[in-house]
This record gives sequence, structure tokens and C-alpha cells, in this order.
Amino acid sequence: MAAAHPDRDVPSAFCAEFLDFSAKDTAARWLSAADLQQQVYQHLAQYVPKILCLGPSSSREEQREELACQLLLLAPLEWLLLGQEPSSGLALLQENNRPSPLCGHVFKVGEPTYSCRECAADPTCVLCMQCFLGSVHKDHRYRMTTSGGGGFCDCGDAEAWKKGPYCQKHTPNNTDTAEEDPTAQLPADVVARSYSIFFIILKYAVDLLTWEQEDQLPVGLEPPERGDTYYCMLFNDEVHTYEQVIYTLQKAVNCSQKEAVSFATTVDRDGRKSVRFGDFQFCEQAKSVIVRNTSRQSKPLRVQVMHSSVVAHQCFALKALSWLGQIIQYSDGLRRILCQVGLQKSPEDENTSLVDQLMLNDSKMWKGARNIYHQLLMNSLLMDLKYKKIFAIQFAKNYERLQSDFVKDDHDREFSITDLSVQVFTVPSLARMLMVEENLMTTIIRTFVDHLRHRDLQGRFQFDRYTAQQAFKFGRVQSLIGDLKYVLISRPAEWSEQLREKFIEGLDAFLELLKCMQGMDPVVRQVGQHIEMEPEWEAAFTLQMKLTHIISMIQEWCATDERVLIEAYKKCLCALSQCHSGLADGEQPISLSLAGHCVETFRYQVSQDKVSIHLPVCRLLAGLHVLLSKTEVAARFPEQLPLGELSPPLLIELPLRCLVLCAQVHAGMWRRNGFSLINQIYYYHNVKCRVEMFDKDIIMLQAGASMMEPNHFLMMVLSRFELFHIFSSADCRKRYREANKDVVQQNNTLIEEMLHLIVMVAGERYVAGVGQVEPFDEVRREIIHQLSIRPMAHSELVKALPENGNKETGLERVIDTVASFKKPGVTGRGLYELRPEWNKHFNLYFHHYSRADQSKAEEAQRKMRRQNAEDTALPPPAPPLLCPLFGSLVNLLQCDVLLAVEGAVLQWAVEPSGGGWTESMLQRVFHLVGMALLEEQQQLENSKGDDDVTFNYTSKITRPGEAPSTSGSVLALLESLQNAPHLEVHKDMITWILKMVANIKTIRERSSSSSSVTISQDHGPEETVRDKDKAERKRKAEMARLRREKIMAQMSEMQKHFISENKELFQQSLEELEASTSAVADQSPPVSSDQSFSVSQVCLGPRRFVGGAERRQLVTCILCQEEQEVRGHGRAMVLAAFVQRSTVLSKNRSRATPEPEHHDPLFMHPDLSLGIHTASCGHIMHATCWQRYFEAVQLKEQRRQQRLRGHTSYDVENGEFLCPLCECLSNTVIPLLPHTHRLSHSVDHPTLEAWLKLTTQQIAALLSDSASEGAESPAPDGFRVDFIPLKPFSSSVSEMITTFSMSTYKVGLKLNPNEQDHRVPALSWASCAYTIQAIERLLVDEEKPLFGSLPCRQDDCLSSLTRFGSACWTAAKLKSVHTHFIRLLAALVPDIHVENSPCILDVDMFHLLVYSVFSYSSIHCLDQSGRTVVDSAHVHLLHLVTVAHMVQILLTSTPEDVSMDQDSGDSEEEDLTCQLFNMLRKHLGSVLPEVSCGWLLWRCVKAAMLPFLRATALFFHYLNSAPPPADLLVPGPGQWEALCSYLSLPCNLLHVYQSQHTLLDPLIQRWCCHRSVRQTLQGGGVIIRFPRESNQLIDLPEDYSVLINQASSFTCPRSGGDKSRAPTLCLVCGSMLCSQSYCCQSEVNGEDVGACTAHTFTCGAGLGLFLRVRESQVLFVAGKTKGCFYPPPYLDDYGETDQGLKRGNPLHLCQERYRKIQHLWRQHAIAEVIGHAQEANQTLVAIDWQHL
Ligand SMILES: [Zn+2]
Ligand SMILES: [Zn+2]
Ligand SMILES: [Zn+2]
Ligand SMILES: [Zn+2]
Ligand SMILES: [Zn+2]
Ligand SMILES: [Zn+2]
Ligand SMILES: [Zn+2]
Repeated sequence: MAAAHPDRDVPSAFCAEFLDFSAKDTAARWLSAADLQQQVYQHLAQYVPKILCLGPSSSREEQREELACQLLLLAPLEWLLLGQEPSSGLALLQENNRPSPLCGHVFKVGEPTYSCRECAADPTCVLCMQCFLGSVHKDHRYRMTTSGGGGFCDCGDAEAWKKGPYCQKHTPNNTDTAEEDPTAQLPADVVARSYSIFFIILKYAVDLLTWEQEDQLPVGLEPPERGDTYYCMLFNDEVHTYEQVIYTLQKAVNCSQKEAVSFATTVDRDGRKSVRFGDFQFCEQAKSVIVRNTSRQSKPLRVQVMHSSVVAHQCFALKALSWLGQIIQYSDGLRRILCQVGLQKSPEDENTSLVDQLMLNDSKMWKGARNIYHQLLMNSLLMDLKYKKIFAIQFAKNYERLQSDFVKDDHDREFSITDLSVQVFTVPSLARMLMVEENLMTTIIRTFVDHLRHRDLQGRFQFDRYTAQQAFKFGRVQSLIGDLKYVLISRPAEWSEQLREKFIEGLDAFLELLKCMQGMDPVVRQVGQHIEMEPEWEAAFTLQMKLTHIISMIQEWCATDERVLIEAYKKCLCALSQCHSGLADGEQPISLSLAGHCVETFRYQVSQDKVSIHLPVCRLLAGLHVLLSKTEVAARFPEQLPLGELSPPLLIELPLRCLVLCAQVHAGMWRRNGFSLINQIYYYHNVKCRVEMFDKDIIMLQAGASMMEPNHFLMMVLSRFELFHIFSSADCRKRYREANKDVVQQNNTLIEEMLHLIVMVAGERYVAGVGQVEPFDEVRREIIHQLSIRPMAHSELVKALPENGNKETGLERVIDTVASFKKPGVTGRGLYELRPEWNKHFNLYFHHYSRADQSKAEEAQRKMRRQNAEDTALPPPAPPLLCPLFGSLVNLLQCDVLLAVEGAVLQWAVEPSGGGWTESMLQRVFHLVGMALLEEQQQLENSKGDDDVTFNYTSKITRPGEAPSTSGSVLALLESLQNAPHLEVHKDMITWILKMVANIKTIRERSSSSSSVTISQDHGPEETVRDKDKAERKRKAEMARLRREKIMAQMSEMQKHFISENKELFQQSLEELEASTSAVADQSPPVSSDQSFSVSQVCLGPRRFVGGAERRQLVTCILCQEEQEVRGHGRAMVLAAFVQRSTVLSKNRSRATPEPEHHDPLFMHPDLSLGIHTASCGHIMHATCWQRYFEAVQLKEQRRQQRLRGHTSYDVENGEFLCPLCECLSNTVIPLLPHTHRLSHSVDHPTLEAWLKLTTQQIAALLSDSASEGAESPAPDGFRVDFIPLKPFSSSVSEMITTFSMSTYKVGLKLNPNEQDHRVPALSWASCAYTIQAIERLLVDEEKPLFGSLPCRQDDCLSSLTRFGSACWTAAKLKSVHTHFIRLLAALVPDIHVENSPCILDVDMFHLLVYSVFSYSSIHCLDQSGRTVVDSAHVHLLHLVTVAHMVQILLTSTPEDVSMDQDSGDSEEEDLTCQLFNMLRKHLGSVLPEVSCGWLLWRCVKAAMLPFLRATALFFHYLNSAPPPADLLVPGPGQWEALCSYLSLPCNLLHVYQSQHTLLDPLIQRWCCHRSVRQTLQGGGVIIRFPRESNQLIDLPEDYSVLINQASSFTCPRSGGDKSRAPTLCLVCGSMLCSQSYCCQSEVNGEDVGACTAHTFTCGAGLGLFLRVRESQVLFVAGKTKGCFYPPPYLDDYGETDQGLKRGNPLHLCQERYRKIQHLWRQHAIAEVIGHAQEANQTLVAIDWQHL
């Protein structure tokens, strides 16, 4: 394709035609022609191949195509349609249009959608942001989600909203009559022409999009001239991965990786893309390579070689469809006409219209084509209420075929026409119509069943071991369930005869489906060997889960109509009896007898025979049975119900088996059946399934029990639990005790489970229909029991409650009645706490508690009762009344078999040595007894006389026990247990029971005398004795508990491992240390300011404070616990530290990162664009201890790498390790050094002039020495150029100095350590200066005082950094340090011998000061005269730098010359500032503005100097260990004076200049004359102004949806206007990035990284903070391999974040949390947060962070 611009010739050739062409004339010609279609086709045949698809396209090319299309092809159509100039014609149409009130905005991917939880008809009803903001729902409880694309705004659809269907914009004018024909608005000729044009164009488009030939065109469209030009077209599928496609393309069409990525991206987006253009042969060749390369594992990629004219026409067909879509937006009349044309039956085939043709070919089209015509359907048919109906019918007619196509297709559902079902079926009136007229419910269910072909011999579904392919198809089939849900989601308010008929027919089909599920995946207990292969179970449960809501909805439908309910009940019963046929066949009949009762059954054992968890038919019947009770249909039409046909023992048989299975699994009897069974049991009880599984089984048992003789029921239960023999034979207990231990334990658990089941069957009454309750009560009870476990967040509660089909739990209606809300702090979430008055509703055997829940709740309740000094009995709460149909359930509680069981357990407990009983067993028996007593009490209270009380438990338990327990009555047993020492814990409960018995007795006695009695719960006088007794007992128990707790605490303390013990020790020593440092401060009490200038107030210079510095410093090694003095010659002590690059202070994020090899780090630019930050956790070790520790870490890492590949949270190869004590991420150590400079008062301190003179001489001597030839400058007295100073440190200390120097070098320059590099000291100093500056900023931002507020670890870190800085020259080559000092000084005192001195505007003065102070020591050490001290040099350097900084400030400040009243002026400061400024103007002239107001200038200087002075004060404080003055220990005013005096500077800083101006004036002149100064000020570079403001994270909007909206309009910057899938916001600079996507990967150091990681390297020196907008998640990344997610600063009204935007509650910015993130960033703690997160959660380590 190297031909010389072939594509450029074509346009010019056809430019002539282009110019001659008149759209108006063409339209006129067409209009007069006889056959319009022929004319238009001729035109298209001629022009389309000339305009479109002329080869590989560029974006310029595309624009040209677009333009030509509009002018040559579409314009004539518009002229023809409108009969006038298109733009004015369209405007006129729009003007006359009466728009439909539907909004119809089609959602883009990622756009926010809103639904109202109060008013939406179902959760699929959504509003666009604009409509939402103009609607009433914004003040309701709404839900916010992001759209997956497709779907449209339902604003204006009256059926979608129970209230407020219109937003302000779409409120219809009341003048509108609803059913007016919109075409009446249009002129008649336009109507006529539109019909024919729309028909021609739509037919053209349909023909071409469904065209299957690669080389031919439909009749009438053959191109006049045909060249040998073809495309090799690659089609998308969802089978091949991106990598496969990219790899194949590189091979097949010989393109670069980048091009291949771009091809693959387009194929993925549009569904097809031409990958080669040329002659047939050329394209055919590429095709064969692609097919060959991809056909190995799966079916090959689809490729076609297509003639260019075919492609061109298809391309235009899409444009034509979009054009139609746009035109109809102007007029509802035109829209109506297009609808008519689209749905008109074709003359050739009575059954199809153009729209049908499109739908039926949907799965054959490529994605791009589908998208465009789906969009057109939404804009036309779905926006026209009349045609929506007609379309709905066509859609339903084609339903089966479309679904089958979809199942075979491999595109996602969002690209399938079937996805439109949500638009059609969710409209209740349409759904109802389709159900009646098209039998939609039955169709959907049948289609579904047809597609599930995996069956076993009995015709049940069998999914075992199905392949990925099958799983994929199964996934697609499930979308049918979604459609069914749409159809059923709103219940009919009225039933017509036809609707009943069709619904029952649908129910029939549904029962067929359930019958295929009944008994799925049966299990048999594995004995002996463990199961070999885990059986498949997920598919069956997926199906069950998906159907859960459907089953519930069907019951809800039935509940609304008596006749439907009765009919459904019959059908369901009939289906069940079919399932039951053969259940008992061939089983051995047995007869059971116990406690004088006898029952017939057959032999069946769960532990030996097949059992299945899936019993949907039984459970549906249970649901309908409850409805019979709830709607009272059973009572009103008993004759119509087949209740007589029910055989209760059969009804309970299967659910009972299932519950017994659960019990046996708990008892450990099914251990060998593996995890598959455990999982099934888990889901059986799980909130997602339990409503239609576990709950219904309990109901079925309740229904059965209420229809059976209670003793018979219980005997059946005993028998199925395989416990019958234990309670039936007299000597069972003996045998039982002798059996082996495992069996005893198993049986104990089974007895517990069985008792629990009886508790549930008799006691669970919170289902409307079983008990006399409302749904509200049911939800409230759930919440009470959840909150009895512990206080919970809103989302936890939501998760614990079942959702209905509308995704609602009913939580909100209830929660405030039972709980109080506690707001969250900066971390954590808001919690709901149960109000104490609801505690009495607590039921320990609440049926939805798991075992863990139960024990937690029990513990919490007992603890609370102890705290309130109440007794700790947890009796059952008063139960609600039963409904009549379930009324006889209560008799379970007082029947003989249960009494026998209770008696047996109590009897065992009397003999504690037995071991044949457990506490839980006993507790359950107490609970059952309690329930029975409550029942009796309730009946007595509600009755008028004794006669209608059928319940007589109290008298039954006084009867002596019958065989087998030959002992006393239940009551007698209880009384004897009351004081049993081994039952201390149950004492309160037994007391409660006995009290109840006494109470009931009193009521009975009283009621026999007088009929109306109120029950007295008061304590009689005899009670007080008992209370006292109780109080004493409680006190003792409490003491015992405390003792126990203490012992436990001690034990666990001892078990804690070694290091945490050391931690404690260490903390002690730390406290001591802190105490001692504060003692230092105390020794020299800060002098109050009225005591004029005092020596102790100064931190540098000859008059500085001397004292604390000479103190011995003792520290303890955290590793060996030895104490050690910090000494220069002793064993080195080190501080764990973390060095990182930082851009936190950067004022210029666009500056390129320095080239490591050639970067000169000696001068820091004032934009501080890249600094080196050092932090420490403050933990001290011996250098040797640390080295040993680090070697061990390295060794461990090597071994780990050998074993398994992967990452750790820290990068050992880069020297990273975790602090052995606090696990803080570290990568080096700082040596601890003693304070070195001693102040000598004996020498005199030279003036600045003298010092400068001396220093200049010294420098000259050094320079001439190194020049080694030419004129020798005589060295000053005592200055010995060749002097080699004594090493002040031991080798171990020196080694550590080098270690830390190398770390700053390595991190700062990203180079391998090189001790010879002369830049080493500069980087060490840089770290010190930058860290001090960063901390100074942090203190300002947090409004903390300069001194005294830093945490210990930062204090230690700064102090050791500074001392290290002052000593690190000793480890470097002396000469290079000299050179550094010479260059640094030259920046202040220009020296002709030094080249390339930076201009004064390009130097950060604080860095300059720190470097020159540190490097000066290297010069001073050569001076052996003893006449000078370092301290005076420090003062002089500070003065020079201060003046330079003031000049720098004056040059860059642009004081706005506001005419303020502040002309108090004429103070000395202002005068002097003006003088200095005017001198600068003298040198620079008009480059500087004219400023007359000295006050303003002085104010600028003062504000700008403050950060510098503060940082300087910190620096000298740490360098010289000078205690800070009192004024700086508190925030607020007075800082300036205190700072100046602490720094030994005059308050009027200008004096520094003024007093030496003869010396300084020439310097200032030379600074100003640096050529860069003028250049920069004239706009030649970025000017940094002072004071530099602290950087902040970007401002975030208060409402999260604003962000989502922003992100939804963000397009990927690389792939031409494509929506980004993971838009991600940089919180530092506000850039939006296209993260986690191929398109935006780029290469950093030879590795492909995602957009976020790439961005961190330009924005944050490798560290970044982002907000992933779609996920509502903060992302921290550091380097290429480290990252973590962090909770976003957005909270919902319940004080919770919503990571992943799963809940959809409105989210609002929480400023405190955002500030916390900002604080982490400013503190340089992000890397540490990542480290801790990764340590805590190892899965984070495995994530490929660099790809985000
Ligand atoms: Zn809208
Ligand atoms: Zn609207
Ligand atoms: Zn609402
Ligand atoms: Zn040690
Ligand atoms: Zn530490
Ligand atoms: Zn950024
Ligand atoms: Zn992108």
C-alpha cells in the first residue's frame, strides 16, 4: 500500500461533480419521475461507492466522507421530503410539533440513572439526570446507578410511576388530547412523500444490513464501474480474547502491535473492522492466515472478503438509519409515519414487515449495525404509544425464534434485540395484553424449558459436569427468567376471565418446570471412603435462586384472586401427587408406638437412602396453603378445596427429610460427602434462597402438623431423625451410654436439632397466614434479631433481609421504630442499635439464626442483662396468635410424646455423671416448656372462663412420668434441678419457669372464683427474700466471672508472641525517652517575651543556647533490647526510615522528570517540582541488629520466590523491609549521631565583611590548589589546603552514613548506588531540606504550632536527619564537598571563577541555606588557626540568604495596588522596603511594576518570608538542639517577632540589608543583572511567587452523581470518541484518565502500564491518588507493583460508603474523610497505607496494579 497517495486523486476527480451537484434539482427530478425508488437507487448506485470506503481511512478522510454523504446523498432526500430548503423546513416542522411527553433519552454507557424507591412501578423504571432533577422524586428515597448503555429515560410514562410521572420539562400541556393522530399536524403532500421516501430508505437499509453476499449487490444497486477492490473484514466474537486477536492480526496483515490493538479495539466496539484493503487475492490471503491461526482450540474468527461497493452501501445504510432517527425527532407526525412504514406487512409475505426482517436477522448482524437499528427502534416505535403496542405484539410473536437465535449467538445480551424486552414487558398494560393475546407467560416458560435439555432418566434436570460451552448457554437461557420477572412484576388490579385462563395455563407450564426440578441433584450418604469428585451443585442452585422471585410473584398473583388461588392450589396439589407417586412403593411398612400412642409409617432413612434438597413443588404448595389461610379462602370455600385429598404424612415427608439431612450434616454424619453438600446446606438457609426453601419447609411441617394428631407427627419426626429407639425403649439410656463416643455425640446433636425443629414448628408464627401478623411485623422481627447480635450498619441489615422482586426489603419502614442510629466518625460506618424496650422480643431460637449468630446473640443478651443487673434467663417471648387453619399447632407443645421427650432429657440431667445429655439439649427443653406455659397463660388471659381453655400444660406436667422414664413428673424434675450445683447457668431460667407455673396456678384459682382476673406480675413479700438471695448469688457470680476473665487475659497475654512482648517493653522505654526530652525543655524554661532579648532564645550563631545538646542520649534497640548511648565512636544505632520521591509540594507538575545521568541536584528550583522525602516510624535498632534482620528478610524472600512466584507487599530487591516492631514500610535506616559542634566563647566573631573576605581567600586557595598551576593564592594563616581531618566517627557509624546517603541517592536519581558520584552529599542534604519544608507546610495546614506538636517519631526523624546532614560530608570526598560549597556560595556571592551559577529566581533559598550550612563544615575543618567558629558562618550565611530571598520575593511579587486606607505608613520597614525595591527597579527598569505603597510591599515580604523563617527555625533547632521559645509552642500571633529573635534576626528584616548595604549593593546588582532574571520576568518562564501556597487535592462535588455524569461524558483520548470503561480521576491534578484498558496503555521503562500508572510518573513521581468513578473507590498506587483501594470520601445517608456502587443510595461528599485522605497525602503516608493494606490482605498483592 505504498502507492503515492492513491486516495488523494479520487476526491479531486470528483470535485467537479461535487461542485455541479444541486440537491434541489435532483430532488425535483426525482419528484417528477414515475418510479421514485428506481431513481433513488440509481443515484445511490452511482454515488455511494464513489464516496464511501475508498480504502484505509484516516480521520480527515472520515470527515470528508461525512460531508460528501450529507451533500450528495442526504440533502436531496431532505429536499424531496420537505419540499424546501432543509434547515428551514425542519425548523418549521419542529415549531409545529406537539411533542409526546415521553423523554426517551437513550442512556450512554456509564451515565447515571435514577429510580425512585417509593414511586417507581419496578426497579427498571429510571430517569435521566435532567429529568430526575426536575422531578418530585429528588426528595424521595431514590436509588442511583450507572447505566450499562441502552435503555431510555421513562419520564413521561404514566405507567412507570405511581406518582409524579412527569418532570417539569415533560409535563404535558393540558390542551393536548391524548389520542390525536400526530400526522394530522403535517401538510398532506409532506405526508404522502414521507411514506414513499421512508419506505425506500428503510427498505434499502434493511436489505443491505441483512445482505449476505460478499460480492453482489441487490438489484438496481450494481455499481456502474466495478474495480478489483476488496476488504478483508474481521468480525467480532466473544470467544477469542484481545490478545489472541492482536497476535493473529500482527501475523496475518503484518501490522505493528499498535495497529493491531487499534483494529482489535474497533472490532470489539463496532463488531467488525476491515483489516486489509486491496485486490481480491491480497485480501483472501490475509483471510486464510487469520482462519488458520484461530481455528485450533475453538471455531475460527469470522472473516469475509467483501467487495468495496458492498461495504460502501452497508456503510451508507447505517448512515441512512441514523438520518431517519434524526429526522423523526423533529416531528411526532413523521415518527408516526416511520412506525407505520416499519410495521407494514410486506406485500410478498403476509407475516413480515421491515421491522420483523430486522429482528429476525438480528443475530446475524454485526454489533455496529445492531446498535444503530436498536437505537432507531427506541427513537421511533417505543416512543409512539400506539405503535409500541403493535410492536410489542410482533415482538411477542417472534419471541421464541428471537430467543433461540440469541442462545446460539455469542454476543452479549446488551447487543441483542431480545434486550428490548425490558422496554416492552415492564409496561404493565402491555404485559397484561401480551399475556392474554399472545399467551406470553406460557411462551416464555416453554421456551425456557425447551432450552434446558439436560435431564436424567426421571425427566429431572441434571447439570452434572457441564462444559464451559454449556455453562455459557445456561447463562443466556437465564435471561428468559428475567423476562418472566418483568411480566409478573406488577400484580393485576383486576382479573378478566381470559387473564385467569392464561395465567392458569402459564402456571401449568411453570409447574412442569418445577417438576423437572423436584428431586434434582439427589445425594446419598458416603460411608467409608471420602467422595472422589465433588458433584456439580451450582447450576441447580443458580436456577433455584433465579426462580426465587418468580415463585414468590406467582404466589402474590394468586393472592389477589380467590378463584385463581383455588385453581392454582388444585393444580399444585395435583403436580405434587404426581411427584409423590411411588414414594412409599416397595418400602417396608412399620408401626411405631410411644407414650401410649401408635402410628403407621414406612421405613426410610435419610442416612442410607437418596435425599434431595430441591423440592420446589412442595414448597409452592406450602406457600399457597398459607395464602388459603391468610385470605381466609379456606374458611369461606371449604367445599371447593381438595383438602380431603391431602395426606399430611406425605406432605411432610420430603421437607422433613431435607431438614433431617441438615441436622445430620451438622452432626457430622455426612463429612465424607465433601464441600458440595456443605455449600448446598449453606444456600438452603441463606437469605437469597431461604424464602422459597427453608422457610417453606418449616411452613409445610406446620401445615402437616396442624392437620395431624400431634403425637403422630412427633413420632414421625423422631423416626425420621433416627432417634425413635432412644426415647421408646426403657433401657435405651444404658445402651446409649455404652455406645461409642462418636455415635453418642452424633445422637446428642441430632436430639438438639430435633428439639430445635419442634421449637420452630410450634413457635414460628411471623408469617402472615400462619400467625395473625402483618408483613410489617415479620420484617421488624428479623431486624430485632439481627440487632440483638450486635449493632449493625444499614447495608449489613439489608444483606440479612430477603429482597423482593422490586429489590426492596421493607427495612426503611421499620427500622426507626426499633433502633436508634449512631453516626460514623472519620472511619467506620453509621450503626443502628436496638432500643432496649425491644429486648423482650428476643427469641434465642429464632429460626434464621445460624449457630454462630445464635451463640453471639446469646452472649450479647446475657452480657446486657448482667450489666442491667437483671437475671440472665432468656425465656421465649410471647408468641402471636395462630390463624385458625394452623390453630391446632399449639397442641404439639402439650402432647404426650413431647412430654415424654422432655421428661427423658430432664431425667438425664438429674444424673449429671451421665454424659448422655448436653446443655443445649436441656436449654431447648426449657425453652419448649416455657413456650407451653406462655401459651397457657395467653389462653387464660384471653378467655372468659376456664371452659374454653383447651390448653392445660400445667396440670399435665404434674403427672408422674410414664414408661420409659419411671421417675417423677416433669415439674418435680424441674424443681429438683433448680438447686443442682452443676446447672448454675440455667438457674435463672428454671426459676422463671417455676414462677410461671405458680402464676398460672394463681390465675386458674382466681378465675374459678371470679371470672375476670388480671394477672399480677408483682413481687409478693416472699419475693424479696428470694431477690436478696438472687442479688447475693449474682454478686458471687460476677466476682467469679471477673476472676476468670483476669486469668484468661493473663493466659492470652502469655501466649502472645515474642515481639509484642518486646513492644510493651519498648513502649516503656519510649515513654521514658519522651519524659526525658520534655525534661530537657523544662530545664531551660522558655523565657517570656517581656524579659528582653535573652541568649537562651537563640538557635544559631555565637549567642545560641548551649545545654541539652551535650547531654548523653540513651536509646534501646528494639531487636536485642539492649541500651546504648548514641556516640560517634560507639556501635552505630539506626532509625528505620522510608525515603521516597515526592511531588506533594510541587508547584509545577508539567516539569519533565530529570535525566538521572546528567541531572545537577545542587540547586533546587523554587517550584519544588520533585523532592526527596524521608519518614520514619521512630524505631531504633543497633546497626548490626538491623543488618542481621535485613539479611534474614532477604533469605526468606529468596526461599519464598523459589517456592511460589508472586509479590510481597514490600520489594526486598529494592532494599525494602518492614519495621520489625510496627511493620511500617521502610527502605533504609538513618544513623543516630550525637550533637557535634561545641560552642567556643573564646574566639571572636568576625563581621560579615571579614568573614566573606576570609572565606573568599580560603576558596581561592582551594581553587588554585586544584588548578595546580599558575598563580598561587596565598592561603590565610592556619588554613591548610592539604589537611586531612580526623574521621570523627567509628567505622560502623560511617558505614551507616554511607548506607543512608546511598538510599537518598538511589531514590532521588533512580540510579544504582555509586559512592564515587560527587552528587551523593547533595541528595542527602536535599532530603533533609525537603522533609523540613514538607513538615513546615503540614504544621501550617493543620494550624498547629511550629514546635511541640510533632509526634515523637517525626521529631526523632527530623533530628537525626539534620544531624546526619551535617555529618554526611565526612563520608564523601572532601574535594567534591568543597566544590559544592564554592558553587553554592557563588550563587550568593557571584564569583568569576565559578561558571553556570543559577539566577536568583531559580533557587529555592531554604535548600540553598541548608546545603551551604552543611557544606561549610568541610571548609572550616581545614582552618587550624582556631580563630573562627562555625557558628558565625551560620549567621552570615543566614543573613546572605535572607537578603537574597527578600530580593527574590520583591522581584516576583505583584502587589495589587489597591488604594487602601492603610496609609498609617511611613514606618521604617516600609521605607526601607521601598528603598530596596526602587534599587531593584534601578537595575531592571520597567520589567518591575511601579509600586508606591511601601506598606503593601512590606506586607508581601513579611508574608512571603514567613515559611522560610519557620523552616529555618526548625532546621537550626534540630541542628543545634536549641529549645524553642514559648511563643512558638502555641499557634497564633506573635510568631514573627519570636521567629526573628530565635533566629537572631532583627524584627525589621530590612536591617539585615541596611546594616551591610555597602557590601550587599554590588551583590544585589549582580543578581539582577543575571541574564535569566530579565528574561524570566518578561515572561520567559514560570515565575514562582511567594509564599507558595500548600497544594490541595482537587475539589470534589458534593453530590456523587455529578461526578458520574462527568465521567459518562468523558471519552477515551486515544480511541476516537469511544466511551471509557473505567474513567478515573486523579485527585492531585484533576485529570480524567481512561484506566484499566488496552487503548490507553503506554510504555514506562520498557513495560506496558495502564493510564493510571503512567500518569503517576508525570504527576506524582510514581505515586498517585485516584478516584475510580464507576466503582466509587479511591485507588492508591505507588510504583508499578503496589497499590490498594481505599474507602471513598462519599457516604450515603446511613453513613456508609458504597464501593462498587452496588446499593445505589445517594452519595454525598464527607469533607472530613476527604481531608483525611488529603492529610495522608501531605504526610507522605500513602506508600505506608498501601503497605499496611497489602500486609493485611494478601489478595491485594496479586493484583496487577500497573495495568490500572
Ligand atoms: Zn429524561
Ligand atoms: Zn422528563
Ligand atoms: Zn418518588
Ligand atoms: Zn540490638
Ligand atoms: Zn517501626
Ligand atoms: Zn494527576
Ligand atoms: Zn482509552
